[in-house]
Amino acid sequence: MRKKCFCVLFGLMAAVSLQAQLRNEEVYEVTEMNRSAVRTEVRIPGFDGWQTLKCDFHTHTVFSDGQVWPDIRVGEAWRQGLDAVAITDHIEYRPNKEVVLGDLNQSYILAKKRGDAIGFIVIKGMEITRSKPLGHLNALFLDDSLPLDVEDPLKAIDAAIAQGAFVMWNHPGWPDDRSTLYPVHEQLIREKKIHGLEVFNSMEYYPVCFNWARDMNLSFMANSDIHGLINDDYGTGMRPMTLVFAREKSAEAIKEALFAGRTAACFNHELAGLAEYLRPLVKASLQVRKIHEGAYEVMNVSDINYRMTAGGQLFIVPAGKTIAFRQPQADALVIENCHVGSAERLTLSMDEFLNR
Ligand SMILES: [Zn+2]
Ligand SMILES: [Zn+2]
Repeated sequence: MRKKCFCVLFGLMAAVSLQAQLRNEEVYEVTEMNRSAVRTEVRIPGFDGWQTLKCDFHTHTVFSDGQVWPDIRVGEAWRQGLDAVAITDHIEYRPNKEVVLGDLNQSYILAKKRGDAIGFIVIKGMEITRSKPLGHLNALFLDDSLPLDVEDPLKAIDAAIAQGAFVMWNHPGWPDDRSTLYPVHEQLIREKKIHGLEVFNSMEYYPVCFNWARDMNLSFMANSDIHGLINDDYGTGMRPMTLVFAREKSAEAIKEALFAGRTAACFNHELAGLAEYLRPLVKASLQVRKIHEGAYEVMNVSDINYRMTAGGQLFIVPAGKTIAFRQPQADALVIENCHVGSAERLTLSMDEFLNR
């Protein structure tokens, strides 16, 4: 009887399976091989009424020096669990322009078409590209990229500002391995023409810049600056993301949050941002349950691996895992992967952590 049941069940499964794979009597399709329609969610909780949106505000396509067509960027971002991507091709450096025709607006038009087809947010940007001291800046939320194509980069920034763009200073430590705040940056920040700072870009971060962002009210940003295929660089690991704490999932809400400074940089399970945002984010991510006096469970509901130290002990709470937590003899807990300054980590009092 059991054997018969098993045979019936197996036969049913085979029938369902074959039905799913049968395209016609001569062609079968192995649908489960197709990963293009599978998205890996990145779980990072919201807090205080904000949603945490995962965004990449710096990507390239063949329309500048990237190696992929714009709609590929959108598909990659969707599959990797992002909520929005900006296409930010170089204005001045377009080595493919002889063969890839189209003006400065073209890469966004193609990416947006793909985004609209799959319900994904695509932001129109451009990278203003000069040598240091100015370096590179991304202008985001543009209407028309053409007015930015001018000789004087300060005029290009003005043209972006005139469109209400959010301007970020890219990779301040590249290419000379020196993170230098030049007078031109101080001036632009003072004039509110630079609003964000890439404290992480591609594979590198600039710890000295954590204090600059914090002290000069610039939005913390972490972006891929991807040129080739995203999986070639990050594989199944976490790509860099700018976390945006937004009232809703829309381009308008992202823009509002960027200008309000409600962001954090997220790279390789490290977070950099203001304590006022990282503190509630950590509390929303690490949920504490008391077992009895001195004994707790800490459940990490996020996809970020957390490292904490207290009383000379190291506690690692992997993404999506729960650890047994015996209360150490210490008044405070340092969240080692949460940077709130150039050499400062987020600290929670033990009481705040355990009793909230
Ligand atoms: Zn650049
Ligand atoms: Zn770039």
